[in-house]
This record gives sequence, C-alpha cells and structure tokens, in this order.
Amino acid sequence: MTMKCLNHQKSHEFICYQCNCLMCSKCIFIHSKDHPDHFDQCEHIDDIKHSLSTLKLDDIIDTTTTNNHINNENKNNNNNEFRFKSQINNKLKYLWESLRSSTSRYQSLSTTENDIKQHFEQLHQYLIREEHKLQRDIINDKHTITNQIDNNLMNLKYLINIIKLFNKLNNNENNSNEDTSNIPDTTTLYSTTTIMESITTSSSLQSFINHNNQTLFNEYNNYFNIDSLLKQHSSDSSSILLDIIHKYNNQFNESTTTQIIIT
Ligand SMILES: [Zn+2]
Ligand SMILES: [Zn+2]
Repeated sequence: MTMKCLNHQKSHEFICYQCNCLMCSKCIFIHSKDHPDHFDQCEHIDDIKHSLSTLKLDDIIDTTTTNNHINNENKNNNNNEFRFKSQINNKLKYLWESLRSSTSRYQSLSTTENDIKQHFEQLHQYLIREEHKLQRDIINDKHTITNQIDNNLMNLKYLINIIKLFNKLNNNENNSNEDTSNIPDTTTLYSTTTIMESITTSSSLQSFINHNNQTLFNEYNNYFNIDSLLKQHSSDSSSILLDIIHKYNNQFNESTTTQIIIT
C-alpha cells in the first residue's frame, strides 16, 4: 500500500469526505473542477492536524438543548472566530449529541414504562383487595348457611327417624328380622353441596327423602336401636315415642334457637 498518488506520483495531502478519496495537490485541482459542490467536504492534512491539535474535548458539548446552546454561542464569540474545524470535529460533536439525545429519549421511555407499570400494579392490588373484601362477606355467609343446613339436616334426620320408628312400632311383626349392625353410615360420603342440589330438585320433603333414602335417610342409618328401646321400655310404644321426642328436644332445641339468632 502506497500513500502516493498513482497518477501524479505525489504524496496525498487532501481528503474529500463526500467521496472518501485521498488526493495529491494536482488531484484536488481536478476534483474541485469536476465536483465544485465538494469544496466544503475537502480538507488539507495540515488543516486536519491543526484542528486536531487544538481540539478540546471539553468544547464538544450538546448544543441541541437550549441551555447548552447559549453557553456554546458565548464561547464561540469569546474565542477565535474563524478557527477551522475539521469534519472529524463535527462528527465528534454529532456523535456526542446523538448519544445524548438517544440516552435522554431512552431514559424518558423507561420512566414512562415504569410509571405505567406502577400504575397498573396499584390497580391490580386495589382490585385484589376489593375482590377479597367482597368475597370475605360471601364466604362467611356461605359458611353460616352450610352450618345451618347441616344442623337442620341432622334435625330433620332425627325427626324422620322418629316417624320411621313410629311406623315400625305399629307394624312390628314385619320388621323384627332386620339386622342394623353391619351397614356403614354413608351420610358422610355426601357433601352439603350434593344435598343442596337434591333440595333444589326435590319438590317436596317426601321426594327429598326418597332421593336420599340410600344415604342420608338410609333406613339402617338410624339414631335408635329398636331392640334395645323395646327392651328398655318393656315394649311400650308410647313410652318409647315420648322418650325419643324428649331426647330430640334436648339435643336440638338449644341449637335451633341459636340458629334463629344468627339468621
Ligand atoms: Zn469529492
Ligand atoms: Zn494526484
């Protein structure tokens, strides 16, 4: 690689930034004739050297913002007015200003992005709090109702048992062979939710009992042992009936009153 002009065998002294070509003193003459508009873009090596030697990086400031612009004008007026500035200086200034503006724009976008994020985070938290607030009362209410239903079901089951027992005592000969010991209690296999569905679909208490006669109202799933009651009351059905009604009142009346207060 040679730094001499191949056409004139002279050293390169000029550069045209527009064409990015190196030229000797004869080439520049031809070039300026061919491209008079490139006059501003051509620089002599001495000028470039001078410009770089006097270059103060402190003077490369961002003049796109108003404050810096005023400062720069003042500096230019105070210092030598006709100082030549190479394209390199201009490029430095352009790059610095571009970096400054890109950074500023990027940071501004980040700030907005963060503001949006925070705003929606607050909204989310507010919505979650409101949701929990509204649901808390509903959950409490549902819990109370579930307890109420469970209690009433127990109550109902006991009363149905009394009626069944009463019917059995009236037809005692048909039911004496029943084995009540080995059938497991399947009531617990049915949730209150399932029972509630049954309550909704049953048009009467009888259809509700029929619907659940294998579970809640399973005839073996009784509170009473008929044999022991018969023995206890010397087979006096009136005495048995009064006894279990009395027991029923003892067991449920208190909770029934409490329930009314809750409701
Ligand atoms: Zn040129
Ligand atoms: Zn040349």
